[in-house]
Amino acid sequence: MDKLCYQEELPVERKYDILVAGGGVAGVAAALAARRAGRSVLLLEKGLILGGLATSGLINMFVPMCNGRGVQIIKGMCQELLRLSIKYGYDTIPDSWKNGEHPTRERTERYLTRFSPELFAVALTELLHSEGVDLLLDCIASAPVMQDGRCTGLIVQSKAGRSFYPAGVVVDTTGDADLLYRAGIPTVLGKNYFIYVASKIDLKSCERAVKSGNIRDAVYSEHGGHADLYGNRQPPDVPLYSGTTPQEITDFTVRNQLVMLEKLKGEERNSRDIVTLPTVPQFRSTRHIDGAYTLQTADAYRHFDDSIGAICDFDHSDILYEVPYRTLIHPSCVNMITAGRSAAAQGYAWDVLRVIPPAIITGQAAGEAAALALEQGVALSEIQIAELQRRLSNAGVMIHFDDRWVPKEPCDQPEMIGQMAEHL
Ligand SMILES: Cc1cc2nc3c(=O)[nH]c(=O)nc-3n(C[C@H](O)[C@H](O)[C@H](O)COP(=O)(O)OP(=O)(O)OC[C@H]3O[C@@H](n4cnc5c(N)ncnc54)[C@H](O)[C@@H]3O)c2cc1C
Repeated sequence: MDKLCYQEELPVERKYDILVAGGGVAGVAAALAARRAGRSVLLLEKGLILGGLATSGLINMFVPMCNGRGVQIIKGMCQELLRLSIKYGYDTIPDSWKNGEHPTRERTERYLTRFSPELFAVALTELLHSEGVDLLLDCIASAPVMQDGRCTGLIVQSKAGRSFYPAGVVVDTTGDADLLYRAGIPTVLGKNYFIYVASKIDLKSCERAVKSGNIRDAVYSEHGGHADLYGNRQPPDVPLYSGTTPQEITDFTVRNQLVMLEKLKGEERNSRDIVTLPTVPQFRSTRHIDGAYTLQTADAYRHFDDSIGAICDFDHSDILYEVPYRTLIHPSCVNMITAGRSAAAQGYAWDVLRVIPPAIITGQAAGEAAALALEQGVALSEIQIAELQRRLSNAGVMIHFDDRWVPKEPCDQPEMIGQMAEHL
């Protein structure tokens, strides 16, 4: 490939303690946690709404936050954001969980909810606004500026051109580890099956909603590709995409839209409508860091000294993990950290870690850790883990799971498996 080299003088903007790049659920959690720790925070988002895949990607389901035995595992800011996701719109939380009772049908009645993506997005805007997190929309954090292993700030591309935002710590919540990758941190590419989810209504669904008195019943999913996370229904002639080049993103989107359109062509024009299309690519796994520790499938039920939170599996009851802080950092990186679906994990452990509730857990931890590193004047790899855990615990996070919840014989939850995997 030919290369062009050019020099550019950039305006230098105000310095922030912490820059958070990417306003998905992990980025929102990181920005909030850092702000609540008293730091000046700027959240940069390339789209026009907050929430990332959970809102712009129409992935409107908080997967179970309990172990399938009536015990809530994922708490802290995740509990707060779940409640926020339904504050202005519908929910599907089982009544028992809503009323604080012990679920009567433990293994099927899990603590989860669907939510309105659009109302969750504006509720997130309201929350960040009220807490004093500065926000820039329609801005791409395009590159870190590195000096002696330290990131001095980010180059940001916006309508106004390119400028430099200095920062004490950078949290990369782009979902794709874009900035850590450009800083030279080793990363791992993912492979994505063919899926596309849009929101649809039709006359029958509207009738159902009128009957039930719940607008949720009007909107349902229409698909282009329809492969699940295990690759079921993957068309043999479609490649697996990593989702990290414009060509791949375009090909994935165009192919999916054409498949969806073929389905719609057979339907009466006036009888239905597509009400929302995803505005971020629906890739589960693009790029994640090769962190100081990579969480493995076999780490289920293992306690970690540097756990930043216990998490549970969405598709099977009983499966529990602790998330080591080291999955968010790389030793060579003094003041950059990641969270959300770009944290270091492999195999099924990655699938458990990437979904909305754990992404919030890691986001909250990354924001707290960034604030702590500045306070202690040390690299992110040198913060006092016990102090981080103390602060997260005070903010409601369960750091370690209780060994009484480890099953003698781990068992599946057959009632849920098909249902959840279908969507995920
Ligand atoms: C098909 C599919 C189904 C899924 N089903 C479920 C489910 O049912 N339940 C569940 O809990 N999870 C599900 N997931 C996973 C879940 O949605 C995501 O893993 C989770 O939302 C990730 O959050 P995040 O904040 O890490 O990243 P993202 O949601 O990807 O957020 C990244 C944000 O950063 C922004 N951004 C990217 N690059 C830049 C840049 N350079 N500068 C500025 N901003 C940038 C993006 O616009 C986006 O807002 C599913 C995912 C897919 C793809």
